[in-house]
Amino acid sequence: MKKYFFIQPRQSGKTTKALDIYRKSPNDSLFITYKADFANELCKKVNGNPKNFISSMKIKDKTVGYKFIILDEYMFFKNKEEVYENIVKMIDVETIYIYSTSNKQYNKYLYNFVKYCKEIGLSYSATLSEYSRYKGFSDKTEDDIRELYYNFLTDSDIILDDKFKKSTKNTEELINILCKEQYEVEILNKYLTDNLISLEEHNSIINISSHKLKLNGIACPNCGKELFDSQPDIILMTNPPKKHIECGNCGFEGYRNT
Ligand SMILES: [Zn+2]
Repeated sequence: MKKYFFIQPRQSGKTTKALDIYRKSPNDSLFITYKADFANELCKKVNGNPKNFISSMKIKDKTVGYKFIILDEYMFFKNKEEVYENIVKMIDVETIYIYSTSNKQYNKYLYNFVKYCKEIGLSYSATLSEYSRYKGFSDKTEDDIRELYYNFLTDSDIILDDKFKKSTKNTEELINILCKEQYEVEILNKYLTDNLISLEEHNSIINISSHKLKLNGIACPNCGKELFDSQPDIILMTNPPKKHIECGNCGFEGYRNT
C-alpha cells in the first residue's frame, strides 16, 4: 500500500487536486471527506456515483472493492482513529492520497517520539508506557499521543509532501485577524512546533530507536509480531545460555537460547 500525504495551507487548491486523482479512476476510488453534504456536493460536481463519495463517519460500511482512497481535509475528521484502523485493514487498496491543512501545531518531540515507536512496531499502549518511562504526562499529552499514533502522518512509510507555501502578502493584517498559531498553520503550513528538543528528550528517542537494532527475527508466541532482546548485552549463564526477550506489541516476556 502506497501512501501520499500532501499537507498544505488553506485555499491552496487541495480539493481540486484530490478530485483530479478521483477522475483518473472513478470506479476504483473512494473519496472521503469530513461532512456528508460536502461529499454529496463534490459527487454532483464531477457527475460521480454516490457509492464513491462518503463522509468519514461512514467508513465502516466501505471495506472492499476500492484500489484508491482519497482523503480530503483528513486532519479535521472527527473519527481519525476509526478511519485509520479501517483503512489499514482494507486489503484491496493500492494507494492512499491524503490532502489536508493541519488542524493545529503538534509538539515536535511528541511527533518524533510516536513516529519512532510505530516504526519499531510498538502498539499504542506500549508507546504510552515507553513515554511514561521518561516523562510524566497529563491527559492532554495522552490525547495528543493517541491522535498522532492513529494518524497516517506518523507512518514510517508515508510519502510526505509539506513543501507547499503560499505567497504571504498582508502578513501583519492576517496575523492580527488569525492569531499567531493559526496564521502559522493555515498560511505558513507549519504543523509542528519549532521548539528545540531537550537532551533528555533526544536521548529517550534514541533509546527507543535502538530497540530496532535488537529485533531478533523470532515471532512472539502470543501475537506473532517480532520479538526483541530486551537486555542484549546480558547472557544468562544457564545451560544452554539464554537471553531475555520481550514483545513490543503485546508485552510478552521470556527467554531464548543463544
Ligand atoms: Zn506479542
